[in-house]
Amino acid sequence: MLRNQNSTISFDPADVDLPKGHWIDGAYVDDREHIELRYPSNGATYAACPIADPGMVDRAVQSAKHALKTSQWATCRPRERAQLLQRWADLMEEESERLGQLEALASTRPISQAISVDVAVTAEQIRFFAEFADKEGGDVVPTDGNHLGMILTEPYGIVGAITPWNVPLSMAGWKLGPALAAGNAVVLKPSEMTPFSTLYLAELATRAGIPSGIVNIVLGDGPTTGASLVGHSDIAKISFTGSTVAGGAILKRIADTGIKPMTLELGGKSPQVVFRSADIERTATAIARGIQVNAGQTCVAGSRIIVQESVAPEILERVTTKLSDYRIGATWVDDTNYSPIISETQLQRIDGIVKAAIAKGASCAIGGKQLDHPGYFYEPTILTNLDSSSPALSNEIFGPVVTIQTFVDEEEAYELANHPTFGLAAGVYSSDLKECLRATKRIEAGTVWVNRYGRSRDHILPTGGFKASGIGKDLGREAYKSSRRQKSVLIEH
Ligand code: NAD
Repeated sequence: MLRNQNSTISFDPADVDLPKGHWIDGAYVDDREHIELRYPSNGATYAACPIADPGMVDRAVQSAKHALKTSQWATCRPRERAQLLQRWADLMEEESERLGQLEALASTRPISQAISVDVAVTAEQIRFFAEFADKEGGDVVPTDGNHLGMILTEPYGIVGAITPWNVPLSMAGWKLGPALAAGNAVVLKPSEMTPFSTLYLAELATRAGIPSGIVNIVLGDGPTTGASLVGHSDIAKISFTGSTVAGGAILKRIADTGIKPMTLELGGKSPQVVFRSADIERTATAIARGIQVNAGQTCVAGSRIIVQESVAPEILERVTTKLSDYRIGATWVDDTNYSPIISETQLQRIDGIVKAAIAKGASCAIGGKQLDHPGYFYEPTILTNLDSSSPALSNEIFGPVVTIQTFVDEEEAYELANHPTFGLAAGVYSSDLKECLRATKRIEAGTVWVNRYGRSRDHILPTGGFKASGIGKDLGREAYKSSRRQKSVLIEH
């Protein structure tokens, strides 16, 4: 039963027709073995996700190979490719309600955010990369008078992409946008927990006129389907986003089955560093947002607050107030703004880390338990008084949990901020420009936000981590360039 009968975007998930099967060569193909799916919003079983075995993965790869051979996708005038991608983005916008519903029912994204953020951003990403197709190319380089030196660029062929469950549409956009604009075909495996919006995205690609077989979606788990895709000899490049553990498994698989280029966008444990000169109200709002979005289930969740001692009590008080202000409900109800946790397993994992931190002496300022509501909701949680070996500081929690640590001087701030394992993103808050600049240089992270937290819609800024947070970049010019391989040519005349 829907709670908000007057709303225009609330929906009943039982009314949504789910795409069935893998998307191969422009059509749905069902498969036998299945993974049971439950709504994160209420825990009810609602569908099953097929698991592609190596044979099914090969079928998708052969479809991509055939499409590259028989269509002009890689060799057409690049502007024609760009126009098809733009048409595809138009269709995403036209179909934003259905795409948003498919995103919201399976994932943790409330419907209002799924439509206004996830669908909108994904369409924008596709447009952004389409614009590179006929503008970014190779180079003629200086050589002596008897030679002509050139750097040519060309698509790799078939890119194998693997995405996580936390923001499925946007993650598919990160992978499909640059690879397709650059003239590759793609076989993409979305998370087995959130396959539907990605499938429909692929269906829309075919409807937009992108040749069948250029975009294929195979469904399944990591060890079977993901590993088959990574190890397939016709996959020329791997583009992965997910956990650092799975990234390690993929590196091993590549080493065992044949070296190929790859980008890995992995986990994080991102700090938000607050200096005493910061605008406290604005900072508290940004900090809360940094952990509130998707209930902390974002790779860049600002999960470690590192605050100068003199302003720590005020920051704690204001962040507590802001984190306590949320509207809980199923993801298909339009005024919900607080996300459930993706699964029972992940909920137990979050709770386990919080309990272990408390057992080691941490104090719980707010939260620390599952919310009394159907489904998998966890209270926004703030942990203080942490021992440096606390499991809440070392592990990526991927939930609505922040730790607060204090510092006296700048050096101590950087020591706390620079994590031994991760280096994905960071926030810095200060009204002293020199302090901000020093901090952006000293913090070891692929992205540093100053006096704000989180991505804007400036897709030109690449994203990617230092240390075990990743290899290579998504978004930005970088993602387009790394979707084409460079060939050096020297002609003697
Ligand atoms: P996950 O690593 O469990 O799964 C991600 C994807 O990899 C899924 O499709 C999964 O089926 C597949 N997979 C798992 N093991 C595999 C294997 N051995 N071989 C091939 N494929 C395999 O991650 P998740 O739980 O879906 O997502 C959360 C994680 O993703 C977090 O760690 C988060 O930080 C990370 N993430 C990173 C970024 C980034 O930009 N750095 C963005 C979003 C999410």
